[in-house]
Amino acid sequence: MTGAGSTDRRRVLTAGAAVLGAAASAQLWLPAAARAAETPLPDGVFSLGIASGDPLPDGVVLWTRLAPDPLNGGGMPDRPVSVEWQVASDERFRSVVRRGTAQARPEYGHSVHVDVRGLRPGRSYWYRFRAGGQLSEAGRTRTAPAPSSSGGSLRVALASCQNWQHGYFTPYADMLEQDPDIVLFVGDYIYESTPSSTGVRRHEGAGEPFSLTQYRNRYAQYRTDPDLAAMHANAPFVVTFDDHEVDNDFAGEIPQDPDKQSHDAFVARLTAAYQAYYEHMPVRAAAVPNGPHIRMYRRLEFGRLARLNVLDTRQYRSDQATTQDGAQDPKLTMLGAQQKQWLLGGLQNSPARWNLIASQIMMAETDLQVGPGKLWFYDAWDGYQVERNQFLKEFKGVRNPVVLTGDRHLTMISDLKEDYADPGSAVVGAEFVGTSISSNGDQDQDAFRREWDPRMPDNPHWKLLDAHRGYHLLDVRRDGIDARVRIVDTVRQPKSTPSTLARLRVDAGRPGVRVV
Ligand code: FE
Ligand code: CA
Repeated sequence: MTGAGSTDRRRVLTAGAAVLGAAASAQLWLPAAARAAETPLPDGVFSLGIASGDPLPDGVVLWTRLAPDPLNGGGMPDRPVSVEWQVASDERFRSVVRRGTAQARPEYGHSVHVDVRGLRPGRSYWYRFRAGGQLSEAGRTRTAPAPSSSGGSLRVALASCQNWQHGYFTPYADMLEQDPDIVLFVGDYIYESTPSSTGVRRHEGAGEPFSLTQYRNRYAQYRTDPDLAAMHANAPFVVTFDDHEVDNDFAGEIPQDPDKQSHDAFVARLTAAYQAYYEHMPVRAAAVPNGPHIRMYRRLEFGRLARLNVLDTRQYRSDQATTQDGAQDPKLTMLGAQQKQWLLGGLQNSPARWNLIASQIMMAETDLQVGPGKLWFYDAWDGYQVERNQFLKEFKGVRNPVVLTGDRHLTMISDLKEDYADPGSAVVGAEFVGTSISSNGDQDQDAFRREWDPRMPDNPHWKLLDAHRGYHLLDVRRDGIDARVRIVDTVRQPKSTPSTLARLRVDAGRPGVRVV
């Protein structure tokens, strides 16, 4: 989102400390008389930090949740609380350009989602909150470029899969240094698994979350990771969920283990999980859940440079196939009829140079069977082949489609092919499967190679395969995407050493991806 004339591309990253000093002199909060009338709140209402998300050319969502006792339901009094907010065009808040008061309501866990508008396109802003006399840290965010702008660049950090018990979220410390314009998080923000005494860190609670309070506590624990919190405070996130925000491998209203969870019980679980998801994510009011339903698929525009289609591949899908034949059943749907039409329309009519698709699960084929015959993962697009193949055909007529994916806990960078059953078919796009922030922990790389390298000849569309933890950084420009796979040496310690594993390039107008 950086135009050629931008002056603040490399800015002071840790705004918090510097700005708090300036806060004392800020005169734009409520007058003293109004402040004196406020009922005091417990200390530490901003323990979960602050965040921003879903940037528009003229606005962004600002988020916080008041939770002085974050791992025990939040610890707030059972009443609405006024939260003041400010947006400034400078990090010292000398020039406050927007401000207001939002209500943190107990029925939404005292979360606050401010949909700020009236900002200028393609520039940084700083923001902060105040409640009960307590001031939040200051955050930095960034608006999307003007709709008509076609130049500049967009730096996207692609992240997914952060299992608390598998490691510290150290890739975010490096991501912060790389200063992305947006962080695209494509699922498994929390894991619903039970606490384990053998993990690097232990989940809170006594078991899997089912109730709203339990899910709130789980999200709250994740937000206490300092690297994740700092990243949220310094760049807007664009998020979507996958399965572990609710229940491993669920499909629509079908749980992983229907023999153990009745339909009614699972619907109640979905309702609690989606509500907690909304409460903790910087998303617009369109994502306020309605019972066991949440609208998460949506589109974000970055001038004429990039259109980002964010998918929901979990809520509307058919139950997973269990056989190779079943995976080719034309009745199976991944997106559901409505979302499918929405995506097709958005691809066909796109004015954008790059048509990015955030898909939780992998689109390129994974043939697990070495030698003749194929064996697929049925939870991924391979398990929903007829619908997947329709999109791959469609991609031939789409300008520069690139799919950005999570789920696999591996870096898998692939050409998208029109028909994987036909080795001679056309390359129609590229896919980046962005490893994981911490899930699977520090993997034995030799064991990984022994298992996966023999599959390479069966999957000639794979351009890069790796099992380190980290994320992908994509610089999107008119003429191409320059991508870097950023990895860390460990997630077993709170500090790690980052490096670039590989550089890749996608040329505009030439489908496919290559290692450079
Ligand atoms: Fe995962
Ligand atoms: Ca094979």
